[in-house]
Amino acid sequence: MISVEQAQSRLLALAPPPVEELIGLSDAHGRVLMHPVVASRAQPPFASSAMDGYAVIDDGRTHWTVIGESAAGAGYFDPIGAGQAVRIFTGAPVPPGADRIVIQEDVDRVDDGIRLRGGADTARYIRPAGGDFEAGFVFEAPRLIGPAELSLLAAMNAAAVTVARRPKVVILSTGDELVQPGESPAPDQIIASNAIALAALVRNAGADPQVLPIAKDRETSLMQAFGWAENADIIVTIGGASVGDHDLVGAVARKCGFVSDFYKVAMRPGKPLMAGQRANTVHLGLPGNPVSALVCGVVYLAPLIRKMLGLTDVYPEHKKAQLGVAAPANGPRAHYMRAFVQNGIITPFDRQDSSLMHLLPMANALLIRPPNAPELKKDDPVHYIDF
Ligand code: AMP
Ligand code: MG
Repeated sequence: MISVEQAQSRLLALAPPPVEELIGLSDAHGRVLMHPVVASRAQPPFASSAMDGYAVIDDGRTHWTVIGESAAGAGYFDPIGAGQAVRIFTGAPVPPGADRIVIQEDVDRVDDGIRLRGGADTARYIRPAGGDFEAGFVFEAPRLIGPAELSLLAAMNAAAVTVARRPKVVILSTGDELVQPGESPAPDQIIASNAIALAALVRNAGADPQVLPIAKDRETSLMQAFGWAENADIIVTIGGASVGDHDLVGAVARKCGFVSDFYKVAMRPGKPLMAGQRANTVHLGLPGNPVSALVCGVVYLAPLIRKMLGLTDVYPEHKKAQLGVAAPANGPRAHYMRAFVQNGIITPFDRQDSSLMHLLPMANALLIRPPNAPELKKDDPVHYIDF
């Protein structure tokens, strides 16, 4: 059996390179920028006022004659001379020659001008041209575009950006015992709860999920479903991955032309994980147990999507915490334990059965116990990933 790390890197090696598309900036939230963007203008494009007040030449005097006004969007561009002031507002161009904005709270209006009060603020309140970024400033890629990135890209006047096309991820639940949420299950049936959770995970990772109708545990039904996934970038199957009489996914994937890359990982939960490839479609076969499916979604599927989007930092970050309780020695498989972490203290749940869904919303972390890890005491350092 291969390790978690081996399975991760073998799976990611199957990822085809990202496909580019040009989109408007208003559609770019949550997308991955593929090429650096170069600013064609400086920001601010002119020296601008940081306050409401008066632009002056600061030569020690305390009285100025007001000769005009500079407002945001209605600038005053003539040079000013000694003893002259221009009424100015935040964001407005500072007239050539002026080297200080005296703030309006610090002056009294007198006849034709202004007089500085004693104890006035001595800061200059001028934002220099290009003080935020210069023309030619490079915003590097690849990177995920969130609200902060949108703000900068818009300021750079990048009206359209080249991003990675969202991978199409087809999700297939398999099993005669499953019905869709909202349907009426027979006495021996349960609700297919994994697909909807994985679709959300897929969307969060930046891809487009499509949930297929549930496939029966029959070759014909599975073959048909694999056929529907013809144009997918990733086909995620759920269940049917073990060695039971009704676990047909691996065999059908091969029959449909997928070349198997690995099967089974030294991991708990998630041992019967499988991966393969056909042309530019990756097959990821997840175990059916709800916890296994979701944990494998976090550990394998989300990083695969991020790789397909061209991102470089794709794996969940391994964070450090201290154990809130003692933990027994671990067996030969890495154990990803549902846990709750707060203020640097992590406590794994007592019950770790991979079928338990009521505990899922209470977990915010997966505590990682490496293969054959020794027994640990309370307060010992451990690693976890967010969950
Ligand atoms: P399997 O890998 O098909 O043997 O499934 C393992 C366990 O997970 C069985 O108890 C299944 O009923 C359950 N299971 C499989 N697929 C799903 C699903 N999509 N949603 C919820 N439970 C599932
Ligand atoms: Mg099954």
